[in-house]
Amino acid sequence: MTRRRKDDTGRRILVFGSPYWSSRKLTVDALQRVMEVYRPTYTLVCDMTDGAARYAAAVARELGWQVEVHEFDVTKCGPDCPTRNHRRKSQQGDWCPSARLRNQEAMADLGADVCIALGYGVPPSGVRRDGTKEIKARGIGVWEYTQPGAARR
Ligand SMILES: [Zn+2]
Repeated sequence: MTRRRKDDTGRRILVFGSPYWSSRKLTVDALQRVMEVYRPTYTLVCDMTDGAARYAAAVARELGWQVEVHEFDVTKCGPDCPTRNHRRKSQQGDWCPSARLRNQEAMADLGADVCIALGYGVPPSGVRRDGTKEIKARGIGVWEYTQPGAARR
Protein backbone atom coordinates (compact mmCIF):
# COMPACT_ATOMS: atom_id res chain seq x y z
CA MET A 1 0.00 0.00 0.00
CA THR A 2 2.90 2.36 0.53
CA ARG A 3 4.86 1.72 -2.62
CA ARG A 4 6.89 4.72 -3.64
CA ARG A 5 6.24 6.34 -6.95
CA LYS A 6 9.58 5.34 -8.41
CA ASP A 7 8.67 1.67 -7.92
CA ASP A 8 5.30 2.08 -9.54
CA THR A 9 4.46 2.92 -13.12
CA GLY A 10 0.83 3.74 -12.28
CA ARG A 11 -0.53 7.20 -11.76
CA ARG A 12 -1.28 8.33 -8.22
CA ILE A 13 -4.09 10.83 -7.93
CA LEU A 14 -4.49 12.59 -4.60
CA VAL A 15 -8.01 13.83 -3.85
CA PHE A 16 -9.25 15.90 -0.96
CA GLY A 17 -11.79 18.61 -0.36
CA SER A 18 -14.86 19.71 1.48
CA PRO A 19 -16.98 17.52 3.75
CA TYR A 20 -19.96 19.34 2.16
CA TRP A 21 -19.03 18.21 -1.36
CA SER A 22 -21.90 16.33 -3.02
CA SER A 23 -21.47 16.79 -6.76
CA ARG A 24 -21.23 13.45 -8.46
CA LYS A 25 -21.15 15.15 -11.86
CA LEU A 26 -18.11 17.32 -11.09
CA THR A 27 -16.40 14.32 -9.48
CA VAL A 28 -16.86 12.31 -12.68
CA ASP A 29 -15.61 15.29 -14.72
CA ALA A 30 -12.45 15.51 -12.62
CA LEU A 31 -11.61 11.81 -12.75
CA GLN A 32 -12.38 11.52 -16.46
CA ARG A 33 -10.05 14.44 -17.09
CA VAL A 34 -7.31 12.46 -15.37
CA MET A 35 -7.96 9.58 -17.79
CA GLU A 36 -7.69 11.96 -20.74
CA VAL A 37 -4.42 13.49 -19.54
CA TYR A 38 -2.62 10.49 -18.03
CA ARG A 39 -2.16 6.94 -19.18
CA PRO A 40 -3.34 4.09 -16.94
CA THR A 41 -3.16 2.68 -14.40
CA TYR A 42 -4.79 4.94 -11.79
CA THR A 43 -4.75 4.88 -8.03
CA LEU A 44 -6.92 7.29 -6.09
CA VAL A 45 -5.31 8.32 -2.82
CA CYS A 46 -7.67 9.78 -0.22
CA ASP A 47 -8.52 9.84 3.48
CA MET A 48 -12.11 8.58 3.03
CA THR A 49 -13.62 11.39 5.08
CA ASP A 50 -17.16 12.59 4.32
CA GLY A 51 -17.91 14.53 1.18
CA ALA A 52 -15.15 14.94 -1.38
CA ALA A 53 -13.07 11.88 -0.52
CA ARG A 54 -16.05 9.50 -0.39
CA TYR A 55 -17.49 10.80 -3.66
CA ALA A 56 -14.12 10.47 -5.35
CA ALA A 57 -13.58 6.94 -4.04
CA ALA A 58 -17.02 5.83 -5.22
CA VAL A 59 -16.52 7.22 -8.73
CA ALA A 60 -12.96 5.87 -8.90
CA ARG A 61 -14.16 2.33 -8.14
CA GLU A 62 -16.82 2.61 -10.86
CA LEU A 63 -14.09 3.63 -13.30
CA GLY A 64 -11.95 0.66 -12.30
CA TRP A 65 -9.30 2.57 -10.39
CA GLN A 66 -7.46 1.30 -7.36
CA VAL A 67 -8.36 3.18 -4.18
CA GLU A 68 -5.72 3.69 -1.51
CA VAL A 69 -7.09 4.94 1.79
CA HIS A 70 -5.06 6.81 4.37
CA GLU A 71 -7.27 7.32 7.37
CA PHE A 72 -6.14 9.57 10.19
CA ASP A 73 -6.94 10.12 13.85
CA VAL A 74 -8.30 13.62 14.29
CA THR A 75 -7.58 13.47 18.03
CA LYS A 76 -3.83 12.99 17.56
CA CYS A 77 -1.48 15.97 17.58
CA GLY A 78 1.76 16.11 15.64
CA PRO A 79 5.23 16.81 17.03
CA ASP A 80 5.13 20.44 15.90
CA CYS A 81 1.67 21.27 17.27
CA PRO A 82 1.52 24.14 19.72
CA THR A 83 0.83 22.99 23.27
CA ARG A 84 -1.49 25.79 24.31
CA ASN A 85 -4.83 27.02 22.95
CA HIS A 86 -4.53 24.69 20.02
CA ARG A 87 -6.97 21.81 20.41
CA ARG A 88 -10.57 22.58 19.58
CA LYS A 89 -13.63 21.34 21.36
CA SER A 90 -16.64 19.69 19.84
CA GLN A 91 -19.40 17.39 21.02
CA GLN A 92 -17.22 14.45 20.04
CA GLY A 93 -14.36 15.74 22.17
CA ASP A 94 -11.20 17.71 21.53
CA TRP A 95 -9.60 17.46 18.16
CA CYS A 96 -6.44 18.69 16.44
CA PRO A 97 -7.07 21.27 13.70
CA SER A 98 -3.80 20.26 12.00
CA ALA A 99 -4.40 16.50 11.81
CA ARG A 100 -6.06 16.58 8.40
CA LEU A 101 -3.39 18.73 6.81
CA ARG A 102 -0.60 16.56 8.25
CA ASN A 103 -2.29 13.51 6.73
CA GLN A 104 -2.62 15.24 3.34
CA GLU A 105 1.08 16.07 3.39
CA ALA A 106 1.94 12.47 4.31
CA MET A 107 -0.12 11.24 1.36
CA ALA A 108 1.62 13.72 -0.94
CA ASP A 109 5.03 12.59 0.33
CA LEU A 110 4.32 9.09 -1.00
CA GLY A 111 4.19 10.65 -4.48
CA ALA A 112 1.34 12.02 -6.54
CA ASP A 113 1.04 12.90 -10.23
CA VAL A 114 -1.71 15.42 -9.63
CA CYS A 115 -3.93 16.55 -6.80
CA ILE A 116 -7.65 17.20 -7.22
CA ALA A 117 -9.16 19.64 -4.70
CA LEU A 118 -12.95 19.55 -4.50
CA GLY A 119 -14.21 22.69 -2.79
CA TYR A 120 -17.71 23.63 -1.77
CA GLY A 121 -18.92 27.22 -2.06
CA VAL A 122 -16.81 30.26 -1.40
CA PRO A 123 -15.11 30.42 1.98
CA PRO A 124 -16.01 33.54 3.98
CA SER A 125 -12.46 34.81 3.82
CA GLY A 126 -12.28 34.24 0.05
CA VAL A 127 -9.13 32.25 0.70
CA ARG A 128 -9.04 28.46 0.48
CA ARG A 129 -7.20 26.89 3.37
CA ASP A 130 -7.64 23.34 2.21
CA GLY A 131 -4.02 22.25 1.95
CA THR A 132 -3.56 23.06 -1.73
CA LYS A 133 -0.79 25.55 -0.94
CA GLU A 134 1.26 22.82 0.77
CA ILE A 135 0.69 20.45 -2.15
CA LYS A 136 1.76 23.05 -4.74
CA ALA A 137 4.87 23.72 -2.68
CA ARG A 138 5.88 20.11 -3.33
CA GLY A 139 5.71 20.71 -7.08
CA ILE A 140 2.51 18.71 -7.50
CA GLY A 141 -0.08 20.24 -9.84
CA VAL A 142 -3.47 21.01 -8.30
CA TRP A 143 -6.76 20.92 -10.21
CA GLU A 144 -9.35 22.85 -8.29
CA TYR A 145 -13.06 22.26 -8.66
CA THR A 146 -15.70 24.28 -6.84
CA GLN A 147 -19.25 23.11 -6.28
CA PRO A 148 -21.55 26.13 -6.09
CA GLY A 149 -23.03 26.36 -2.63
CA ALA A 150 -24.01 28.69 0.14
CA ALA A 151 -21.19 30.60 1.78
CA ARG A 152 -19.85 28.40 4.54
CA ARG A 153 -18.37 29.35 7.86
ZN1 LIG B 1 -2.50 19.42 17.11
